[in-house]
Amino acid sequence: MRAIIVDKPENQYQASVQLVEESQLPDGDVSVDVEWSTINYKDALAISGKAPVVRSFPMVPGIDFVGKVRESGDSRYKAGDYVVLNGWGVGEGHWGGYAQIARVKGDWLIPLPDGITPRYAMAIGTAGYTAMLCVMALEKHGIQPDDGEILITGATGGVGSVAIALLSKLGYSVTAVSGKSDAAEYLHQLGAKQILPRDEFSAPGKPLAKERWAGVIDVAGGNTLANACAQTKYGGAVAACGLAESMQLPATVAPFILRGVHLIGVDSVMCPREKRLAAWQRLATDLDMQLLDKMLTEIPLDEVIPNANALLAGKLKGRVVVKIA
Ligand code: NDP
Repeated sequence: MRAIIVDKPENQYQASVQLVEESQLPDGDVSVDVEWSTINYKDALAISGKAPVVRSFPMVPGIDFVGKVRESGDSRYKAGDYVVLNGWGVGEGHWGGYAQIARVKGDWLIPLPDGITPRYAMAIGTAGYTAMLCVMALEKHGIQPDDGEILITGATGGVGSVAIALLSKLGYSVTAVSGKSDAAEYLHQLGAKQILPRDEFSAPGKPLAKERWAGVIDVAGGNTLANACAQTKYGGAVAACGLAESMQLPATVAPFILRGVHLIGVDSVMCPREKRLAAWQRLATDLDMQLLDKMLTEIPLDEVIPNANALLAGKLKGRVVVKIA
């Protein structure tokens, strides 16, 4: 089978498309004929070696895949069922989705929800499912469309694009923050009402600023997250899921202790199964699938490596789906 292999011979980090034997697949109770995968930020880090995402070598990266069950020792799945995998350390410590066959634990899989095609499932991928988790976090905090505007950072990226589409359809007014000066048409098509330049957020700001946002979905971290918290309205909430700007959080406690702002951490990787199932069901009903067509670029396995580098260089918009079968 064909797969992308990341290896580190003599400390030289390298990624290439190779032919590997099925017998090399790791242990697992379900094997899947992978049809589609995708490129997330973390996949790009795993392919480039720019951050220590891969924990054992050789590794097949790819934190997401969708495909048909080939063989199953798990009573919940039978041959021919469509299943989706996101996270659980797959593509980091266990061989992942950039291969024609994957073998994983049945506990890590979910059935492909009705209403989502395999290709759209990967246009959503971990990025879109994380966007849904962020929306659910804001909803759980009680934020409603009438409460005011929602700020979304890293707006043209995977998480940002799907978050804009979801919140707009749910009736929220969305302000998008983007570093791309040519992205206005794209962001308006997804539903953003207002677009602000990234550099308004990326420099150090005041501990408290004018109250502007009922809620925030942040993929950037760093000064952007600190400034977003400082601008959040009394009692509002900030769902933080990423570090595209920085791992640091150079903030003060002022928004939390003076305005009761909630900072909510969102993780997709180890998210419990019930919450995943709920998030994917919500995606099936609350995401306008036609907007995914505006977000997605389709590539074959051979083009994953150059596209991963382009993603890290900030040159991509939306979501990349990878046709495996
Ligand atoms: P993408 O690369 O698709 O999007 C990231 C976007 O962030 C870019 O498109 C760009 O948007 C913006 N950006 C890039 N560089 C910077 C910068 N220096 N400062 C501020 N913004 C920047 O990645 P994803 O959407 O897939 O992921 C976004 C983040 O969320 C990543 O950090 C990722 O690791 C994290 N993540 C976390 C998950 C979790 O479980 N917690 C799951 C999924 C993702 P623009 O040009 O429009 O500003």
